[in-house]
Amino acid sequence: MLFSDLGLSKKVTETIEEVGYTEPTPIQAAAIPEILKARDVLGIAQTGTGKTASFTLPLLTKLETGRARARMPRSLILCPTRELAAQVFENFEKYGKRQKLSVALLIGGVAFKDQERILDRGADVLIATPGRMMDHFERGKLMLTRVEYFVIDEADRMLDMGFIPDIERISKLIPFTRQTLLFSATMPKEIEVLAEKFLQNPVRVEVARAATTANTITQKVVYAPSGHKEKRQCLRDILGGSEVKNAIIFANRKKDVEIIFKSLAVHKFSVGGLHGDMAQSARMEVLANFKNGKLLLLVASDVAARGLDIPNVSHVINYDMPMQPEDYVHRIGRTGRAGRSGTAISMVTFDDIRQLKAIEKVTEQPIEWQGEAPSEDDFEASSKIRGRAGRPSRNNAHRGPDRYKLGADSRKPANRKSGKTEKAERPARPARQERPARTENADVAKPAQPEPKAPTNETAKPKASAKKHDKDIIAFGAHDHIPDFLLRSSGLTK
Ligand code: ADP
Ligand code: MG
Repeated sequence: MLFSDLGLSKKVTETIEEVGYTEPTPIQAAAIPEILKARDVLGIAQTGTGKTASFTLPLLTKLETGRARARMPRSLILCPTRELAAQVFENFEKYGKRQKLSVALLIGGVAFKDQERILDRGADVLIATPGRMMDHFERGKLMLTRVEYFVIDEADRMLDMGFIPDIERISKLIPFTRQTLLFSATMPKEIEVLAEKFLQNPVRVEVARAATTANTITQKVVYAPSGHKEKRQCLRDILGGSEVKNAIIFANRKKDVEIIFKSLAVHKFSVGGLHGDMAQSARMEVLANFKNGKLLLLVASDVAARGLDIPNVSHVINYDMPMQPEDYVHRIGRTGRAGRSGTAISMVTFDDIRQLKAIEKVTEQPIEWQGEAPSEDDFEASSKIRGRAGRPSRNNAHRGPDRYKLGADSRKPANRKSGKTEKAERPARPARQERPARTENADVAKPAQPEPKAPTNETAKPKASAKKHDKDIIAFGAHDHIPDFLLRSSGLTK
């Protein structure tokens, strides 16, 4: 199959040739003709297999004729994070260079003025995070009555609790006659039921069963100690492996992102931190430095789990096991993209064993242990813990267990077998219908909040609390400020 067989415009086909794509990926080959036929599409394909171009190329073709009016965009693309929205914007610029379309990016954390100017001129394509888009709408700077094409990228995330009120509202503001396109690598059943409300007579284009991990990713799990110091040592041991060229390290909580970042910086790794409470300028800078190789490690919250396309990430490391199995699929999908190979290593503590089981169930794939595996007793004891501590409330469910406050190493054999320590400390995983409103990364419509300090060189002083928490944290600076000779010569230094 060739791009020229898909029905795309001449301009788009020429640009694709110039970009260097020789043939469409399976999702592109299947979805593009349906989109060009004006069908609503629910598109499911593994991470890193070209879903962005699956909707961008036909939209560019369709928008080639016609003109946008002031403040009335012709198409709307919603993304869950600012970084992903910015990336989709770059894709439109790349693929749309032969068209004279106006593309606007509306994301939080940056000035309104420039965004307003572009809206005033009339945008053919509007790419946005929901919160900022609604801000513009409420200021009377934007009308959605002429939107013909409505795309929701990372659709299951966008229809999850944190975003759904915004999405429902936005969808009511767009004409019923629009064409709607939803894309993701995962689509839990209960979210799909919701998704159907937004679609009319859709065609489901499913290249691989939802939640299938990309086959370019080698997955491993490491049995890690629960004690926080020991766990960080375990992380450093993994990073010391010669195959790790660069890596994204995921932690579940912003606080832990900061702690791990600082700890790795102290140990002279080339590292940056990224989470949703950082100033947008710092978020962009860290990401840019990781992309261009100035930083070799990126410690991140789930703000980096979805959609980001950084071509040469050799490893993804789950320092914490994600709370939702789908997040695992997306996190590890930051490596092994566009046919390249990559490795995902997940650190599983005694407490995490059942989360691992939940992931293996969703992905329908066992993950191989690297090194020592938990014993049968561990498996049994860990799975017995489920539910005894009661269900977490919605408000704090997303925060997960506060393991690090415990101090004790819950891998002590006595605890492991009896499960006594863990049962009191670890809340049960929320059931599907109790999916937490994960506002941490959500650019949802909400009043502006002051942006706390970011873990970059802007916060070069260690906090007293951090010191108290862990003795191996002392003063740190960004990688740029660490003289080269101090950087470790193996693995993750320049
Ligand atoms: P997904 O959204 O499915 O995770 P992306 O749309 O981000 O994946 O694409 C992943 C990478 O694949 C991008 O770097 C993109 O440039 C590249 N890519 C997309 N389509 C093709 C193609 N037909 N041939 C080669 N590379 C492609
Ligand atoms: Mg994508």
